[in-house]
Amino acid sequence: MTTATQAEYTVRELVDRTAGIPASDGAGVELTRIIGSPELNVLDPFLLLDSFESDQPQDYIGGFPDHPHRGFETVTYLLAGRMRHKDNAGHEGVIEPNGVQWMTAGRGIVHSEMPEQENGLLMGFQLWVNLPATHKMTEPGYQEYPEEQLPVEQRSNGTRIRVIAGQTDAGTVGPVENPHVRPIYMDVTLPAGESFAQALPGDDNAFVYVISGELLVGEAGEMLPARTLGILGSGERTIFRATGDDVRFLLVSGKPLNEPVARGGPFVMNTQQEVLQAFEDFRHNRF
Ligand code: MN
Repeated sequence: MTTATQAEYTVRELVDRTAGIPASDGAGVELTRIIGSPELNVLDPFLLLDSFESDQPQDYIGGFPDHPHRGFETVTYLLAGRMRHKDNAGHEGVIEPNGVQWMTAGRGIVHSEMPEQENGLLMGFQLWVNLPATHKMTEPGYQEYPEEQLPVEQRSNGTRIRVIAGQTDAGTVGPVENPHVRPIYMDVTLPAGESFAQALPGDDNAFVYVISGELLVGEAGEMLPARTLGILGSGERTIFRATGDDVRFLLVSGKPLNEPVARGGPFVMNTQQEVLQAFEDFRHNRF
């Protein structure tokens, strides 16, 4: 029976949460592995989410020397510090605070990601976005946007939304394009007591990651503390509220690929045979 109070859409509620696990990668970089851990192996199409945050040089100074990737995209979003990247095709640059590098590894690159600093705070995220079988061997490419090229929507209630990918309900569009999973990647700062709603495609997998403050999720208003990822259930809309303090969080979603995932360290393919081929190609300098 339909009633007058029935909602026209479903609000996504918090269905699970994880704070990730401490991990070390590259040449001894201390980080927190949030997706790609035993607790949350994958959130299709997202294969991995690492958070790094330290003002202790020994935690990051080793960086990520030359290493390969194949079969997916890496998204580096920096909040503090500077990272220099350099690949085997001669592509080089520096990622600075509030800038993003959305790299399509495709059939393969070998690159290094090194801190461009010897002290001070280094803070940011790396997200791995899977590519569909049809595009795993595509040409490598980059979508790079420094802070000044990423639109920030400023609302009258003080809410600020930096849009890397996707479109806000008010129409602000992020520059990153990916037709395979049509991602949404937003960095939202919500003042105390205010709320933020955003439409999401109903079939997307979606998560929030709270950078600072406490976030109330969904109509149920379940509280998600800082440094925690929350998985959002199904629905067409999200609603968030800030409690007593300002809250900063990432809102990320993407269309699931629903394909087999075969992992081999820096290679993510559909079959184990393709992973072995990637190791073979890397060994013979075919990247
Ligand atoms: Mn890398």
